[in-house]
Amino acid sequence: NAEAADALAAVKDADRKHVFHSWSAQELIDPLAVAGAEGSYFWDYEGNRFLDFSSALVYTNIGYQHPKVAAAIAEQSARLCTVAPGFAVDVRSEAARLIAERTPGDLDKIFFTNAGAEAVENAVRMARLHTGRPKVMSAYRSYHGATSTAINLTGDARRFGNDTATAGVVHFWGPFLYRSPFHATTEAEECGRALRHLEDTIVFEGPQSIAAIILETVGGAPGVLVPPAGYLAGVRALCDRYGIVFILDEVMVGFGRTGTWFAADHWDVTPDLICFAKGITSGYVPLGGVAISAAIAETFARRPYPGGLTYSGHVLACAAAVATINTMEEEDIVGQSARTGAELLGPGLREIAARHPSVGEVRGLGTFWALELVRDADTREPLVPYNASGADNAPMAAFGAALKKGGLWPLLAGNRMHVAPPCNVSTEDVAKGLAVLDEALSVADAHMA
Ligand code: PLP
Repeated sequence: NAEAADALAAVKDADRKHVFHSWSAQELIDPLAVAGAEGSYFWDYEGNRFLDFSSALVYTNIGYQHPKVAAAIAEQSARLCTVAPGFAVDVRSEAARLIAERTPGDLDKIFFTNAGAEAVENAVRMARLHTGRPKVMSAYRSYHGATSTAINLTGDARRFGNDTATAGVVHFWGPFLYRSPFHATTEAEECGRALRHLEDTIVFEGPQSIAAIILETVGGAPGVLVPPAGYLAGVRALCDRYGIVFILDEVMVGFGRTGTWFAADHWDVTPDLICFAKGITSGYVPLGGVAISAAIAETFARRPYPGGLTYSGHVLACAAAVATINTMEEEDIVGQSARTGAELLGPGLREIAARHPSVGEVRGLGTFWALELVRDADTREPLVPYNASGADNAPMAAFGAALKKGGLWPLLAGNRMHVAPPCNVSTEDVAKGLAVLDEALSVADAHMA
């Protein structure tokens, strides 16, 4: 109708004139205007509904507009919208308690930030001050955020335009059997060789210079890289041997995404610091933070911590966090994420993959999966080259267009489709999404060599 058309024109016009978008050449993009969202769906101004298998940017873990969390934010805003970070306040205390109760080991103190990259910045600062050492090690392929330290720790191509301040960052290869950097043929071999490579890197960098190793517990942006059994425990042991702080970045995988509160729970590993954001509030209000071990907290017991943020522990965000955690508990959303992975997404994706030669590998857990698309199943040549754009990326663009035409909003990265619906996606919506994916994969098949 005419009213919707006018509204759409106004939104698009002001966006194009005044909004400067992330990661984009501003004149080469045409953002979809979103009119609303609920549960696992969002819709545009022309009545097209999309089943969101990207959970926004992998953060709407309880779906859009969960009434309990929306109500808690409204209630908090009526009561108290803000208070300075230096005061003690009920919802902040409660959010910190609920998080600390769920983190492994003795990570019982919470430093709140506004989002993930700031969590990484502060975790690295804590590690450097705690150890008195300068260097931080991170994995190739990783993503840790877009602020100065975080983007340089990042091990993917988003670092390329930013690597003007790499001092103190050392990259290494983590395990990834399908594209093994170590020519391994089994998970056990990959694990052993990855740990050997990491230890060699530590030794040749000089252990006395290394403050921290930071890892995504399950690589998110890199393509849902699930570590082999024993890898994280092995990294923990190396950190202990060389006095290095072990930081797990759970910004994408915390709060139910992999079917546990924290992905570290799958491997019973306790790091010294955990970075979180995204799912903690399902993104309804921005919030991130660092969960801190007793030993690192002790470093700042009588010595001031030289960092802070105006909005650290913002009360609207903390109210959203409290409501999100309680809702996940009441509705067993973490358990649902695990069951959806084990019973629906895992088997369903593998069944589809068997019909489509372009799917080289299916991997994941909980509501966190990826399909690795290839041009050639034998050589495993990716469907598009690393860091492809424009014409080189045409096969993935065509595949993405087919998914959207079917009403499924995908998360595509490089030669992969990431499958990350809300943790409480319904059985019916999983079936719907898989049916669209099955059909769209014929487009990827058609682009094989
Ligand atoms: N760390 C990881 C593992 C992430 O996936 C992300 C974002 O996707 C970040 C850090 C950065 O978080 P933010 O964009 O909230 O700063």
